[in-house]
Amino acid sequence: MVTIPDRLPFIQSIRPSWYQYKVAELAMLRLDVVHPEISGNKWYKLKENVRHCLANNYNSILTFGGAYSNHLAATAACAEYFNLNSIGIVKGKYVSENLTPTLLKCRSLGMQLEFVSNEEYRKKADELYFKELKEKYNNPFVIPEGGSNDLGRQGAASIVGYIPSGYTHVALSVGTGTTLVGIVNNIQGGIKVLGYAPMKGGGYLNDELSGLISSGINYRIVSSAQTAGFGKWNDELISFMNDFYMSNNIPLDVVYTAKMMYFLKEQLEDGMFSGSDKILCIHTGGLQGNNSVAHKLVY
Ligand SMILES: *Cc1c(COP(=O)(O)O)cnc(C)c1O
Repeated sequence: MVTIPDRLPFIQSIRPSWYQYKVAELAMLRLDVVHPEISGNKWYKLKENVRHCLANNYNSILTFGGAYSNHLAATAACAEYFNLNSIGIVKGKYVSENLTPTLLKCRSLGMQLEFVSNEEYRKKADELYFKELKEKYNNPFVIPEGGSNDLGRQGAASIVGYIPSGYTHVALSVGTGTTLVGIVNNIQGGIKVLGYAPMKGGGYLNDELSGLISSGINYRIVSSAQTAGFGKWNDELISFMNDFYMSNNIPLDVVYTAKMMYFLKEQLEDGMFSGSDKILCIHTGGLQGNNSVAHKLVY
């Protein structure tokens, strides 16, 4: 069995004062608590990949990510936990002196980091490039950027097991959309799934993902970029995160979940939901990404 024996996810109510009775219920599924390092949706996307590696006697995993990537950090921790070697193909020519906290963490967990030019990194989804890398690094199991493969979607599907019936909407942040697809294809009972993309024009994912989604399912992706784009933040977002923590005791991450909740609050205030709606937001983790703003946060 491939299990992380830490904590199980749980559902935590958001204080009614926060959503001012605009909907019947608002709660958060805390996937961020499953493991301090293999956190949130990343564990669910990795677990079937790891199971596959162990069953097929792979001794290493190779994957891709940027210098702040939650997926890279989670893969490094997961590989270490299951005694697999890991290789991270990192976008950008970083050197020891300018490694980000994420990359330092990956390295300390035993991940071999390989820095490639932005140009080479663009080949990250290219089958021929995968083949080259497999030869170069002694036949690792290759997981695409963001864990966005069938095994990733299968693992993400198991998140549905933590979503009780009775909710009208499930809200979650999207990057590659792997988690969203896994959930959308498995959710029952007419629950609508709302994806919040933390970059401008995140709606492009609607086209990219539509081929992976079973027809007739009710989902929609909106852009929740509150500032210029992916990974960007401003003081308003930071104070929103601090307020949210103080009123709900839930730490949000600056890249994904804070933008989702900020945008959701605007939607609530704009009357986008009906008073009988019950919304379950998914906390997809990613708190390691707060390292770069730690000095501004009260948590
Ligand atoms: C990676 C990540 C996402 C995006 O997940 P996808 O499956 O790629 O859509 C969302 N939230 C957090 C906190 C993440 O770290």
